[in-house]
Amino acid sequence: MGKSSRGQRSPNKRSLLNGGAEDEPSPRMGGVDVNASFERIAFAVLAGAVQDMRSIKDTRRLRLLDGSLDLDEYRRLSPERRGELLSAAGLVASLAPTLKIIPEGAIKLSKKVLDAEWDSPYRQELYAAAIAGQAWRPEDMEGDTSRRQGCLRCGAQCGWLPVLLLPADTPTEITWRLSRPENHIPVCRRCRKVLGLGKGNKSRDIDLAWSLWADRFAGLWQWYLAVQQKRLPENWDKEEYPLWPREYGGTTWETGSGHLLHCAPRGPRGITRTQVHEDAYARVLDGAGEDTPPSLVLHLY
Ligand SMILES: [Zn+2]
Repeated sequence: MGKSSRGQRSPNKRSLLNGGAEDEPSPRMGGVDVNASFERIAFAVLAGAVQDMRSIKDTRRLRLLDGSLDLDEYRRLSPERRGELLSAAGLVASLAPTLKIIPEGAIKLSKKVLDAEWDSPYRQELYAAAIAGQAWRPEDMEGDTSRRQGCLRCGAQCGWLPVLLLPADTPTEITWRLSRPENHIPVCRRCRKVLGLGKGNKSRDIDLAWSLWADRFAGLWQWYLAVQQKRLPENWDKEEYPLWPREYGGTTWETGSGHLLHCAPRGPRGITRTQVHEDAYARVLDGAGEDTPPSLVLHLY
């Protein structure tokens, strides 16, 4: 279920189909040709998976002198990329016995990847990271003028303040969610000082993030508490709900917070906010809230 299987890359179908003639261009939907047969789509997905395996071979730092996979370097890849490779390796390995067109090198590397993750307790987390898309980074927004966000209080150019943090020894296979947009607020240094943000007491930071991201932050917040208290739902389907369990998404799940549509990096636009979010925002701007629980907590419990 990685990017390669969602048609975001352009697999070389010709090489797998023995150079068959391409059809005339036809309508496409979500990267998939709506007139394409199931067989052709399946081949395209497989081609993407083979391409993922090939990318390992082409990445020098991942290869040892004997051509095998450097596991230490492999584990330094982002959880998202590891999830993509794991998904691709599973597809290649499962189809290899019946589809003889898969290159031998791709089959070997797929086995290496599956071996590398075999004992990992985080396999489902890696799949979730791959499905949820590129983790958003503050520099993505700051370097792109079309996405640049001014300070939410004064409008000045600013950086993004992370809100929720987990202990430094928390596995990166889990913490990737905190790199996503709903855990950040755009606020300049001066306003951080005026509002008392970014300090040990997180009450105002949390209220500001909630007022900005509404249910998206509320979902993340509930996941954050559950991780620390070790009470995440046992039946959490991470492929259907990669960001946080369905229970935390509320009624807006399908159209808001965790939907694939909103997994791409983006600023806090198009968010549905209500009066409670407006009130939380006003409360922070008024300088209240430092010594009291965040409005979000009072709202949820
Ligand atoms: Zn400001």
